[in-house]
Formats: sequence, C-alpha cells, structure tokens
Amino acid sequence: MDNVEKKELGVNQFLYVIPALKDNYIYLLVCKEEVLAVDPGDGKKVLSLLQETSLTLKTILITHHHADHTDGNELLVRKTGCHVIGPEDDRIPELEQSVDDGEELLFGPFTIEVVATPGHSKPHVVYFFRDLHVLFAGDLLFGAGCGRLLEGTSEEMCSSVEKIAKFPQRTQIFFGHEYTLKNLEFAHFIEPDNLDVKQRLEKVRHLRAEGKSTTPSTLAIEKKTNPFLRAQSPELKEAVAMSNGDTMAVFTRLRKLRDDWQ
Ligand SMILES: [Zn+2]
Repeated sequence: MDNVEKKELGVNQFLYVIPALKDNYIYLLVCKEEVLAVDPGDGKKVLSLLQETSLTLKTILITHHHADHTDGNELLVRKTGCHVIGPEDDRIPELEQSVDDGEELLFGPFTIEVVATPGHSKPHVVYFFRDLHVLFAGDLLFGAGCGRLLEGTSEEMCSSVEKIAKFPQRTQIFFGHEYTLKNLEFAHFIEPDNLDVKQRLEKVRHLRAEGKSTTPSTLAIEKKTNPFLRAQSPELKEAVAMSNGDTMAVFTRLRKLRDDWQ
C-alpha cells in the first residue's frame, strides 16, 4: 500500500504507520499473532493492509471521540470482530471497554499504561507502552506542538502535557497528525535563537519535501523544540516577554499565540 511505513520494534514486533485522510496517522502494532490498531479514522485503509499482510486485528485503542480517529471502528468491528477500547464517551462508535487514568492493559508481553490527558477533548487518553518506550499521543502532542483546545481548558491541557513530560526521555511519541513542519515554523517564530529548533526545521523540511513522515519524535527532542513542553524554561518565558510568568500562564499565552498565528 502507498506510503505505509513499517518500523521494526523488536523480534517479530513491528509498527505500521498508515497515513490517512488529510494528515492523520493510524498505527497498527503487531506482536507475533497479536494485532492492535490505534485511532483508525479510515477503516478501509486498515482493512486493505490487514488483507495484504494476512494479519487479524484483535483490538482497537481510541484516544478520543473525533471522527478522524474513530470513523473506521464500525467497519473494522463488522469485518474482524475486534474489540474497541477507549475513554468512557458515548460519542465513540462501537466502544466495548472503557478505560481511565492509571489503568493498565496487556498486549502480548507488553503492559500499556492509560493516562488521562484532557484538553483537546474531554475525555482524551494516551497509551504508553512502558516496555517499548512507545507513546500513542492522539491529539495531545504533535511534533513541536500540541492539540487545539476544543473541549478542555488551557489549565487542563498544560497539566496533561506536564504528565507526559515526566516520562523517560527516550520515549518515542507517535502522534495523530502530521503538523510538524508548521509547528516548527511557529516554534522558530517564537524562539528565533533556538538552534535545536532551527536544525529540526531544516531536517523536517527535507523529510516533508521527500514525502516522508516525521512520526515518531522522542520526548528528548520535543523538550528542546516544542514550545508547549518548554513553557517552564527561562529562555521561552523571555521569548514571550513573560520572564516572571508561571508555567501555566506561559502555556496559555503560547496556545493563544499559536491559534492566532495560523
Ligand atoms: Zn481530535
């Protein structure tokens, strides 16, 4: 299938990155016979990959209710009988098992931590595969950015982002949309002297010009280049003329600047 990337995670463990709709990513995680999909906004794309690879889908993980993350649920449940897991929300089609903050799920030999991360939507959860250091972030975090506040408050979003900031630095962040280039242009606008942002912007320009995806990122990279993970840093505070501002106030200002900038 066009543009699908396959990433090796370990022996008999790999991840398909499936570009879908305008700029969404659907993820298909395979561990021997176990197959799990994250946020299948387009059921047909997932089905054709399953057919091509002779894999059987067992589980769907949903981060939040938006149609571009859930529209494939119905088709995939009908065709494969898979089990849909997500936050408690009657707007999620075919939801069979609801999960909340601090719960753990098992997938093959892996433990998945569920973390409640409201802000972009309420509810919204992310899934952290502790042993793999892999995080499926939905619309909480993007490359160099964070989700817009459609249902939650800036305070909720800031707290959600701070929860993720405490994860191991080498955590790979697989995000829900390809917004990295635009986000880095904003990051560069905010911190023109940040060399890490400049270098990443160049790299991402090349990747996108070649039609390649920028997912995943790592927490270490994000902390250097994502303004929303830098709201506590003196350099960023100074850049938005809030040297004495607290992190929450700086985060709120950044979100407003980003909304007005695009
Ligand atoms: Zn969304």
